[in-house]
Amino acid sequence: MMPSWLALGGHFLRARWYFTRLQGPALRAYQERRARAIVRYAIRHSPFYRDHFAGHDPREWQTLPTTDKQLMMAHFGRFNTRGVSLQAALGVALRAETSRDFRPTVRGLAVGLSSGTSGHRGLFLVSPEEQAAWVGTILARALPGFRRQGYRVALFLRSNSNLYERVGSRHIRFRYFDLMMPPAEAVAALQEYRPDVLVGPPSLLCLLAAARTAGTLAVAPSKLISVAEVLEPHDQERLAASFGVPVHQIYQCTEGLLAVSCPQAALHLQEDIVALQFERLAEGEESPRVMPIVTDLWRRTQPIIRYRLNDVLTLDPRPCKCGSAFRVLARVEGRCDDVCYFEQAGGGLRLVFPDAIRRMILLSSADIRDYQAFQVRCGQLRIHLDTASAVDFDRAARAVRVQVAAALEQYGCRPASVSVECGLVPQSADRKRRRVQRLG
Ligand SMILES: [Zn+2]
Repeated sequence: MMPSWLALGGHFLRARWYFTRLQGPALRAYQERRARAIVRYAIRHSPFYRDHFAGHDPREWQTLPTTDKQLMMAHFGRFNTRGVSLQAALGVALRAETSRDFRPTVRGLAVGLSSGTSGHRGLFLVSPEEQAAWVGTILARALPGFRRQGYRVALFLRSNSNLYERVGSRHIRFRYFDLMMPPAEAVAALQEYRPDVLVGPPSLLCLLAAARTAGTLAVAPSKLISVAEVLEPHDQERLAASFGVPVHQIYQCTEGLLAVSCPQAALHLQEDIVALQFERLAEGEESPRVMPIVTDLWRRTQPIIRYRLNDVLTLDPRPCKCGSAFRVLARVEGRCDDVCYFEQAGGGLRLVFPDAIRRMILLSSADIRDYQAFQVRCGQLRIHLDTASAVDFDRAARAVRVQVAAALEQYGCRPASVSVECGLVPQSADRKRRRVQRLG
């Protein structure tokens, strides 16, 4: 499974070069060429795509029928181009999750299991060549510039796809830390490893920041990289202040590597890796909120073509100072599944995005250290607050009620049923943190 160094180096150089050079008509032509090639390949090698695209002109890839996670999982064995059955892939993935040994592969392919509510988990197969491409690109785009003495990178991930340890070299060393590790153990291991770059979900990075403040962790990384969960602005500020270094992001999911922060901290879409089409949620927004349709331009083992992703993103229309023409995301708003609903005063329903709920809560009181919000049914909201004391909680709870009521009134909604509770609901370390969740 060792990706070839030559392939990896090639992808590294390609990623560095394309990031600033590929723009305008050349970028469009490049995407067009790659997308057509991947569609041709999928039609030849994936029975699912052959049927799905039957009767359509494959050259008009931008208007081919869409796919999504439900379709992919329902047709898994015919969707991938290697004829790997769902049972075989799922067996390897589930055994790895329980044994925490992520080495086993199926027909030489690494298997990944994406998180999601039960029944909504995605399964993906990756070949060694695809791994090399991914690592080369990540190294080129996410790590700081060349440094003579190299880097030690600490990766905190839900599961190890057996990739990172194998790409270590004299210049870049990786160490994988299992997110399931007890926090005290993780702190001790990290203390000994002294990483230069710290990669992990923001919930874990915040735990490490707290250990740093408490004086139990004395590492001084030169960069933090947030992965796997939505990085909320207040966490980003808190982390940057605690470690005194920039916090960058890698936004990727089962469906592909979608965006990486540049040296200016702008989150650029990886337009040489994925071609993204967008559906707007509303017209006339200055920074449009969109849902993406993803076409991965490279992956052949499990082609991702015109795939509807359930995330809500906000685009930043301004060009970035770093010189890359790749478009910029202002924010990843969250899973579409977590959009909350409220009744409008004049009838009908009003959608309120997780980001708006977050702002209602955090802007109401400086006493709030952390929060969660759950919606079980339309027009209802259960909010949990973490505050320093009971007195703070009472004050914050009152402020939150006032702020939520005012915001909903501004949106033209009927008054909602809002309960505020003291303390957070514990969440397991192997689940993604979602502060705003719709449960109903
Ligand atoms: Zn930039």
